[in-house]
Amino acid sequence: MIVILKDNPDKEQLDGLMKWLKEQNIDVHPTVGSRQTILGLIGDTSSLDMDLIASLDIVEDVKRVQEPYKNANRKFHPDDTVVKVGDVTIGGGNLTLIAGPCSVESEEQIVGIAKAVKASGATVLRGGAFKPRTSPYSFQGMQIDGIRLLLKAKEATGLPICTEIMDASQLPLFEDIDILQVGARNMQNFSLLKALGKTRKPILLKRGMAASYQDLLMSAEYILAGGNPNVILCERGIRTFETYTRNTLDLACIPSLKTLTHLPVIIDPSHATGKSALVPSMARAAVAAGADGLIIEVHNDPPHAKCDGAQSLTPAVFDRLAKNLFQIKEVVDDDRKPVVIK
Ligand code: PEP
Ligand code: MN
Repeated sequence: MIVILKDNPDKEQLDGLMKWLKEQNIDVHPTVGSRQTILGLIGDTSSLDMDLIASLDIVEDVKRVQEPYKNANRKFHPDDTVVKVGDVTIGGGNLTLIAGPCSVESEEQIVGIAKAVKASGATVLRGGAFKPRTSPYSFQGMQIDGIRLLLKAKEATGLPICTEIMDASQLPLFEDIDILQVGARNMQNFSLLKALGKTRKPILLKRGMAASYQDLLMSAEYILAGGNPNVILCERGIRTFETYTRNTLDLACIPSLKTLTHLPVIIDPSHATGKSALVPSMARAAVAAGADGLIIEVHNDPPHAKCDGAQSLTPAVFDRLAKNLFQIKEVVDDDRKPVVIK
């Protein structure tokens, strides 16, 4: 962090600032110019309040030169994080397909879809039991019964389960769930993130609809700092002025997040577009851009789905798409191999 001081700073205030920084275990390296003095701060500045320092009378400006997230930072953890979920590995060059309905509706529905998506190459089943709906009058999910039915689908297919947890108090109900999803609306529910940091469960952390990459990584940091290294990031579209699509899928997040962090990046083209016709193109684009996986909504009868039917693929469409995605993955991997000049 660099602190730029105003001309002729008051000596007493400057001594006070230096003393306070030293008490925070920060090494202060002043550079005194003819007109301006700057302080180079070396050490763990992640807990320093930049705005507080900037508000001091003697301070002109404060600049961060190091990201405020340490555990999520690629600089301090150069190797990719690979999250293990039973036999499934997420990250580290694998393409993981997570598929299933928006919400669990019945045993027949969830077991049937689980069998279909597994046959197409999905290795994780998704399905909401507790649904965060914009309207309190919309279907809120089957809740505990939904969790029970997801576990039945796991028993029938062997697929690990990814489902959304909305509140830390629900943790005991999620004991047998393999991946806990934190929804976009809960990305900054810090008490939930802290509670998940105390577990060792894989967490699928969805990007909030108005969250920057740094906001997302700071939320991941809450879980990582708690001691849980199993965080998977998920881009699901952000809010922009465009209304044709449900959200705007930010695919530039893939190479960007891969630079900033070692955590796996999964793309959700279903919530990002809101339209089933757009899902395959965006799924293909995500794989081509280097995503570690996709989470896709699949429903056996989309027009009658209790939630998000408009963006759900039928099992037949998902089957064709999945084959295509693995082909694209191979081409992209070939492209990443170094070119041998003979
Ligand atoms: C979901 O995956 O079912 C969901 C509600 O997603 P999001 O939090 O991205 O809206
Ligand atoms: Mn949904």
